[in-house]
Amino acid sequence: MTAQILDGRAVSAKILDRVSREVEEFVDATGRVPCLATVLVGDDPASHTYVRMKANRCAKVGMRSRRIELDAGITTETLVDHIRELSDDPEIDGILLQHPVPSHIDERAAFEAIAPSKDVDGVTRTSFARMAFDEGGFASATPGGIMALLDAYDIPLSGKHAVVIGRSAILGRPVGMLLLARDATVTYCHSRTVDLAKHVAEADVVVAAVGRPGLVRGEWIKPGAVVVDAGYADNTGDVEYEAAAERASYITPVPGGVGPMTIATLLAQTIKAARDHEAFRTGGPA
Ligand code: NAP
Repeated sequence: MTAQILDGRAVSAKILDRVSREVEEFVDATGRVPCLATVLVGDDPASHTYVRMKANRCAKVGMRSRRIELDAGITTETLVDHIRELSDDPEIDGILLQHPVPSHIDERAAFEAIAPSKDVDGVTRTSFARMAFDEGGFASATPGGIMALLDAYDIPLSGKHAVVIGRSAILGRPVGMLLLARDATVTYCHSRTVDLAKHVAEADVVVAAVGRPGLVRGEWIKPGAVVVDAGYADNTGDVEYEAAAERASYITPVPGGVGPMTIATLLAQTIKAARDHEAFRTGGPA
């Protein structure tokens, strides 16, 4: 078997087309341009690239972006103050704090300074709880993008055994919750998991979210399984792509799979936030 590609570039392009139309309608109706604020701390080159890509995408769909770049030595308190200011600013619809922040900063405190109505990257406790309780709200952007990609290919999830490798607050944990909400049976694996190969071999759906190239061996994949590789390190995913593609029914390429879906989800959630804010201001429907 040679797997069909889950083409994140193609699916995200369709989502971004839709977002562009929604932005145009929003601007026509309100005279206001939706705005995403991006907050970047320090000078990690990869983080700079990610933030620049997000700002470029905003421009392409007709949204504004406001870039806040802060020195690596900033304190948690000052970062929290900056984010609170954005939370209170009526011109801002969404806030993205680029992860990871330097290790001396309390990232959780910084995330929690994002107003839940502007949490378009789905990183606050409020968004996390809504995902866990299946109450809508903003999904974590990468997990939300993964679900949108699976849905674009009509991949059935109910009753399927999904194995998620990684349990970070922004990726592994929330994607497992979103899969659970779709009635998958979910197993989480992490750095203390004993016999990762055995768990992966039992999976109908594998989501790899670690950041270790080649961690998931192609020969572990159950024939016909769906493989989603969110890992990204040295331009490579977590899964041995060629060997896994021989066994899987569907697989994401790296790059071009999960990555583009993350940005598309972020912008889809930003236009939604703008509509919600406008509805709140005017007392009309969201
Ligand atoms: P993270 O916070 O470092 O979490 C990594 C997870 O992998 C942890 O839960 C860790 O377990 C687990 N892990 C480490 N070694 C393992 C092993 N040998 N076996 C099984 N699990 C292991 O990373 P993250 O922020 O979630 O990101 C994960 C990857 O996704 C990275 O490559 C990142 O670049 C990529 N990513 C991609 C996108 C995108 O848009 N495509 C977005 C976000 C992240 P413990 O919890 O036990 O430490």
